[in-house]
Amino acid sequence: MQPISTTTDIPVGISACVMGEEVRFNGGHSQSRICRDQFTSHFKFQTFCPEVAAGFGIPRPTMRLIGDPNDPTLIFSKTTNETEENLNQRLIDACQPMLQRCRDLDGYILKKDSPSCGMERVKIYQPSGHPHEQRGAGLFARALMAQYPNLPIEEDGRLNDPQLRENFVMRVFAHHHFRKEVVEQPSFHNLLQFHSSYKYLLMAHHQIAYRNLGKMLAVAHNEPLDPLITTYFDQFMAAIEQPASRGAHCNVMQHIMGYLKQSVDSTARQAILTVFEQYRLGEVNLITPMTLLSHYINQNGSDYIRAQRYLEPYPAHLGLRNQV
Ligand code: SF4
Repeated sequence: MQPISTTTDIPVGISACVMGEEVRFNGGHSQSRICRDQFTSHFKFQTFCPEVAAGFGIPRPTMRLIGDPNDPTLIFSKTTNETEENLNQRLIDACQPMLQRCRDLDGYILKKDSPSCGMERVKIYQPSGHPHEQRGAGLFARALMAQYPNLPIEEDGRLNDPQLRENFVMRVFAHHHFRKEVVEQPSFHNLLQFHSSYKYLLMAHHQIAYRNLGKMLAVAHNEPLDPLITTYFDQFMAAIEQPASRGAHCNVMQHIMGYLKQSVDSTARQAILTVFEQYRLGEVNLITPMTLLSHYINQNGSDYIRAQRYLEPYPAHLGLRNQV
């Protein structure tokens, strides 16, 4: 198992304009400082602009989605109703090579509100010119999510939210670990090892999935491997997408404290529990109890507990637990 702190070059797709490429309809970009400054030390970004790939040019007329919110049509905004050209096939055909490459990615960051790249809440217009109440996803985003339901995907705007940012990065690392440790070296042993190292992280995010996946693996040693890996991964990725509450984190940290029973005296134990309670009440962020707990686990914990990815799901210097 590679130490988290040395994990680099995780392949992540990104809307080209979010990385600062001047590919927008007006020749501009929508660079995200978080992506540029915070993520580039560990993510190896692969940029893609669906509209440029489709040959619409830079600059180009603005586009929008019209019609059925569940199956919208991409058109140039400036065209009249008589000359509206359905651009769906042209765009989707141009996206096929990138969609194929996405099988080797561990995440994707999309530009919000775009009729091609937007992940959700993209306006879809009625014949009257007013948007439907129901919003949707851009055409490329829709195809990406349908083809790779387990791929961690976020929008640039939502990454400004510390909780969503932390959850996205954690899922990208988990997806990467699974691809490297289980998909590329498939064996029941490796699947068990992976599950074992993610047990407490799973517990923090989804108690029911934590129990169900443990039960599933307990009786699965003679099951066909490929469907087992697929089923496990579907349930695992869905589970960790759920946010972990402060109460759930406290519960997990108390479980981990159980591994220190013999080695931490009652005074130190009480001090640690006091910090857990401060975290539960929102007085400190997650980094505070985790730093304290990790200190004692590194000194006195068993190999099993020190290998828990919950303790360091991504490199600490990303600073994500300072803000949640
Ligand atoms: S949002 Fe997507 S389609 Fe639009 S400019 Fe950015 S990368 Fe290109």
